[in-house]
Amino acid sequence: ILKLEGVHKSFDKQEVLRPLSFEMNQGERICILGPSGCGKSTLLQLIAGLLTIDGGIIEMGGKPVDGKKQFIPPEKRPVNMVFQDYALWPHMTVRQNIEYGMKRSRTDSSVRKQRLDRLQSMLQLEGLLDRLPTECSGGQQQRIGMARALATEPSILLMDEPLSNLDVKLRTEMRSELASLLSDLDTTALYVTHDMLEAFTLADRIMVLRAGGIDQFAEPHQLFSRPKTPWVAQLMGYHN
Ligand code: ATP
Ligand code: MG
Repeated sequence: ILKLEGVHKSFDKQEVLRPLSFEMNQGERICILGPSGCGKSTLLQLIAGLLTIDGGIIEMGGKPVDGKKQFIPPEKRPVNMVFQDYALWPHMTVRQNIEYGMKRSRTDSSVRKQRLDRLQSMLQLEGLLDRLPTECSGGQQQRIGMARALATEPSILLMDEPLSNLDVKLRTEMRSELASLLSDLDTTALYVTHDMLEAFTLADRIMVLRAGGIDQFAEPHQLFSRPKTPWVAQLMGYHN
């Protein structure tokens, strides 16, 4: 459903992503794990179309969306993104925020209601729907941002550290809830985090990114039992 080949990106001559290739299958949940500044958000923004690639090609559903000849803008790509900072429309109620994308994609009103009901209970938004985002806590806003992205049922959901603003207790709860939510909805998701536990709870496969390159891309148990680089080994808690 998603394919990157030789994708690279520099900012001011500084190579942030070295030529990178991988494929992602329908329904798969992939976590991108790596230290701060390794290029995680950049990679997600390239896939979303918020940045353009310097070279290589990105395909979605077999069609190029960014490459030599074409650039499909973000709103026309089958993706939706949850950001590190959940930008909600400040002048719209929580309900309007969540319905916004569904209305834009002309989702039938009965389907809208069904999805809203389901997401509201799954993400514990009861009682918040008629408030404005500013009347919600940071953690609540983050869950609202997630509901808004999930409501449109995008082919690919991109999430950039969606739990980073939550307190420890809420993050622990949300970690496992999000894992079951994503598997219930059969969402194809690319999930950026620097939290090992999150990656191990959520991912079918984990991509370990370091300094703009892939160290290892494998199932969680493989990272653990057969780390390919000293860095991955260290990440898994091995000491040498
Ligand atoms: P974090 O975990 O802290 O969010 P990250 O892995 O998401 O980190 P990126 O945001 O992708 O990291 O940034 C990768 C590198 O590219 C960093 O060194 C950053 O300073 C640089 N960078 C990111 N965006 C830009 C930009 N618009 N212009 C110049 N440099 C940038
Ligand atoms: Mg980031």
